[in-house]
Amino acid sequence: MQLESDDENYPRSSSLLSLNYHPDFSSPDANVVLAAKDAKVYFRIHSHTLKTVSGFFRTMYSLPQSKVTFADIMYLDEDAEILERLFSMVCGLPFHDIESHDLLESLLFAAEKYDMPGPMSILRMSLLTPALDSDPIRLYSSATRYNWKREGSILSNRTLPLNIHDKKHQNALRTLSTDALLDLITLHRDRREGLKECLDSPPFVSGDPSRCIQCETPINYTTWRELKHRIITEMDQRPLGDTILDIGLCTWPEAAACWRAACSNEGCKRLLYDRSETMRVIRECIEKLPKTIN
Ligand SMILES: [Zn+2]
Repeated sequence: MQLESDDENYPRSSSLLSLNYHPDFSSPDANVVLAAKDAKVYFRIHSHTLKTVSGFFRTMYSLPQSKVTFADIMYLDEDAEILERLFSMVCGLPFHDIESHDLLESLLFAAEKYDMPGPMSILRMSLLTPALDSDPIRLYSSATRYNWKREGSILSNRTLPLNIHDKKHQNALRTLSTDALLDLITLHRDRREGLKECLDSPPFVSGDPSRCIQCETPINYTTWRELKHRIITEMDQRPLGDTILDIGLCTWPEAAACWRAACSNEGCKRLLYDRSETMRVIRECIEKLPKTIN
């Protein structure tokens, strides 16, 4: 931030009336003039408002040695769009949805810099709005950066459709703190490993050589092993697990082979796997997996 100087590029107080004010912030009653980056748009706001909503301005005006007077123009580093959004929040004016992560992050940065708890709380709520749900890793990053536990937890759940090992997510993952990154990796891994453990335990067959309970013919469980492998691979790709239940177990060749598998004794032909019961137990296993970071 910079105060008005003798620099001829900056307007003098005498010409305050002719500045290009933002239409929502142009009242001559407001005694502080703030310029956006590059000084193309100006905002008039009452000093009482600034001191009430911003720790930064409160401190600035309280400094005994401060040379700031209400006639000064303050040149801020933020562009007009950021200031418009920020000042709308603090002045009780309507404001639009925040449509992009870049805008959200710029607003958070500015609200934190000017120590404005009101805008911070509005921005915190906007983390969970549908307008911003296209990149949950970046939202999770913002939530964890400000230690917003509830939002961080909800947003960690929204990353579950993603394969975080995919290169396309590397840039978003780099914005996370080490703790936040570890928590996310652990959640994704625990879901995969939890389901694997479940599929390796009763009532599922162990996979060891066995005999048909009806005719004692030796049987093997190759088809089940292949289906298990496909399920775990799918959990790596999409730890939410929804595609296993909704699509995989109905359409995968490994699933079809499993549901067809029968005792090799022509006189027996007992089916080795109960399809509906197997699907029910897999669904139950997935529903019990951890859903959010701790
Ligand atoms: Zn048999």
